[in-house]
Amino acid sequence: MANVSIAIHGGAGTILKKDMTAVREMEYKSALQQALDSGYRLLSKGAGSVEVVEQTVIMLEDNHLFNAGKGSVFTAEGKHEMDASIMDGRSLKAGAVTMVANVKNPVELARKVMEESEHVFLAGIGAEEFARLKKLEFKNDKYFYDEFRYKQWMDIRGTDRFQLDHSPEEDKFGTVGAVALDQSGNVAAATSTGGMTNKKYGRVGDSPIIGAGTYANNKTCAVSCTGSGEYFIRGVVAYDVSCLMEYKGLDLNEACRVVVHDRLPQIGGDGGLIACDSRGNLALEFNTEGMYRGQQSTTKQSKVEIYK
Ligand code: ASP
Repeated sequence: MANVSIAIHGGAGTILKKDMTAVREMEYKSALQQALDSGYRLLSKGAGSVEVVEQTVIMLEDNHLFNAGKGSVFTAEGKHEMDASIMDGRSLKAGAVTMVANVKNPVELARKVMEESEHVFLAGIGAEEFARLKKLEFKNDKYFYDEFRYKQWMDIRGTDRFQLDHSPEEDKFGTVGAVALDQSGNVAAATSTGGMTNKKYGRVGDSPIIGAGTYANNKTCAVSCTGSGEYFIRGVVAYDVSCLMEYKGLDLNEACRVVVHDRLPQIGGDGGLIACDSRGNLALEFNTEGMYRGQQSTTKQSKVEIYK
């Protein structure tokens, strides 16, 4: 079998062992492990990388532990506005959606945009209309209700504060993403998020922005990011990793290290990313206390980790 590889993340942030109960830690680890196993199984069976990152992110979106899909945080208006994107490294095609409500799996919608529309990026009610046209599943508000998320929102509701899901006051994190290399040598990346608690004014982060939160190119790598979205947009982080490889000849690990530990902190950004290249190398870098993450490849045993 040709080399395959996969990495996933469930958000980066101030994740400290001392703040975590054993039960909680186990819940996160088993959710990550299940998604990782299922993604790797698909790759082993010969599935394409686009299919694999989509299906893996769907599993994470369906888990209330993560701030994406079902577990999305509350906006200032008490709603859920979700963002997602996906990119195919072989064709450089991409699809993204932002500010969508009630769509069960925003990443599935992003893939539909990529493959069944002439566009790359759809927003709000227009994106929802497209989802209906494509017969995607919708869920009512109750499905997206999570007690913990609601409390997070109640704490800052009515104030001008908004909260990144990975800021120090928080202990629940969770933008999700996946990158993969398939047996044909194609890479792909996908990212999905509920954004920030109490966000308003139609705030959009990096996750649905191609080049910022997500990027894939067979020539270089596939990248999915998590962290303080505003900085990831300004740093064009996912594309920056690819550029360092393409134009400066850095290898995957060097490129990721430079971006996460030098360039991003220089502008004040915190968070992390996962990346794979077309030779099967994987990189999982973060400049925060922790990042929910997992990886497996033909040459690397399956591993799920949380802390530094
Ligand atoms: N990057 C996401 C955003 O800014 C949040 C996160 O990764 O936790 O919307």
